[in-house]
Amino acid sequence: TALHPALTDTDLDFVPVPDEMLVAGTWRRATGPAFEVTDPATGRVLQTVHQAVAADVDDAVAAGKAASEGPAWRGLLPHQRARYLHRIADGIEENSARLALLQSYNTGKTLAETTALVGSAAGTFRYFAAVLESGDDDLTVPRGNYLSMSVHEPIGVIGAIAPWNSPVASDAQKIAPALAAGNAVVLKPAEWTPLVSLALGRIIDDSGLPAGLLSVLPGKGSIVGDAIVQHPGIGKVTFTGGTRTGRTIAHAAAEKLMPVSLELGGKSPTIVLDDADIEQAVAGVMYGIFSSSGQSCIAGSRLFVDRSLYEPFVARLVERTRALRIGNGRDPRTQVGPLVHHAHRDSVASYVDLARREGGRVLCGGAAPDDPTLADGAYYLPTIVDGLSNDARVCREEIFGPVLVVLPFDGVDDLVAQANDSVFGLAAGIWTRDYRRAWRLARRLDTGTVWINTYKRFSISTPFGGVKESGLGVEKGRDGIAAYSRCKSVYFGL
Ligand code: NAD
Repeated sequence: TALHPALTDTDLDFVPVPDEMLVAGTWRRATGPAFEVTDPATGRVLQTVHQAVAADVDDAVAAGKAASEGPAWRGLLPHQRARYLHRIADGIEENSARLALLQSYNTGKTLAETTALVGSAAGTFRYFAAVLESGDDDLTVPRGNYLSMSVHEPIGVIGAIAPWNSPVASDAQKIAPALAAGNAVVLKPAEWTPLVSLALGRIIDDSGLPAGLLSVLPGKGSIVGDAIVQHPGIGKVTFTGGTRTGRTIAHAAAEKLMPVSLELGGKSPTIVLDDADIEQAVAGVMYGIFSSSGQSCIAGSRLFVDRSLYEPFVARLVERTRALRIGNGRDPRTQVGPLVHHAHRDSVASYVDLARREGGRVLCGGAAPDDPTLADGAYYLPTIVDGLSNDARVCREEIFGPVLVVLPFDGVDDLVAQANDSVFGLAAGIWTRDYRRAWRLARRLDTGTVWINTYKRFSISTPFGGVKESGLGVEKGRDGIAAYSRCKSVYFGL
């Protein structure tokens, strides 16, 4: 398979990811069991990574507390902290080709996708630096014989627990605002994808950030993740991952009365109204579900099409889906890469088997590709299923793969009832030429984000978060820093 034109396999050697974790300002080999990190495109082992143990969490939290309370961090003015964030962004940009390649190796995503994610990670640090530079001073309100002032103070040490699907971008979304607010961060990447987070840790460490402010501990969720959540020195956990894990973390947080923010799963509806631009809608629906091989929290995995155009629309969608080029994410011709891991591919395949058993019609895909050059990879063909009702398990549960279920609807009330009939509420997409209809429909959908005639587009200045079982709290936007601060009010008698 051709690699990115400017890069070869040996470029991986330049990506600084020795089997060491960053803890308490130093790099050291973890003492927990070793874990093989694989390239899902080939099944090849990329690296063995030793896992952290609970005692490492103690060291990371102690160092984070000392560093965040020290004058080199807490004593800084916002614009001085901003300089550190800019330096981190510089480091990400200087290493962007390597980070993108590494992320493609570790997650299977196409280089186009990982390049965009690395760009967004750098942009996230720049954005929060700019928020610090332009920040309003804390408000003072004189009233009669007293003056009150509320100040935002750092929480202390933030536990950040990340999923495997877009490590560099999700790490940045947690680290940048948490540091901006004056905290330290203990990051635990997902088991399958620690390499990018460790490389990012190396870049951040090299940027000159005071030692101890960031620790990166690869390890199992049930051991290292749980130790972070339970640790008395962790003041807040920011978690992105599955709803079941989010619920476990929320229970543990309730015991400590610790704030949490949870970015969880989804089963997002995309909706094609009868006046939609068909070609634009077909392309948008495909991008919504098949980019990143459907391994995206916001994947548009339930498609609702107005019954009046159901047959021709679905026929065109299937035709164009069949033409997608599946392959190694490092091949620039590839449009759909492998799934992150063979075990995950098996889980996706089992959902399609379930759809068949539930009476669904598999209109395309429904199997691994039969190309022998892809036989060792964790590939699964983009799959479209119809003939099911919204009650089917494949319409209710998050598959997190390239599987789209299509359903017809009759009128807007039927549509809203079906679209909202889900425990999830992360995102939705609407395809129509009539923006007034789109606006009215958007207001009726129980989701945190609605895209109209576009999908999966993000602005770092626009808050993002789920409702219902898709999450608690929002990331991004100016308020992103407030999520990592606590408010103290001080009164002065005059
Ligand atoms: P996951 O819940 O299995 O794991 C997420 C992280 O939690 C991992 O680092 C894991 O090690 C850790 N973890 C597991 N058990 C834990 C425990 N008991 N205590 C503490 N930590 C624990 O999720 P995943 O499979 O890595 O990621 C896929 C999921 O993430 C999907 O459901 C997807 O929708 C969701 N996701 C949501 C968003 C969003 O912004 N809403 C973004 C990306 C992914």
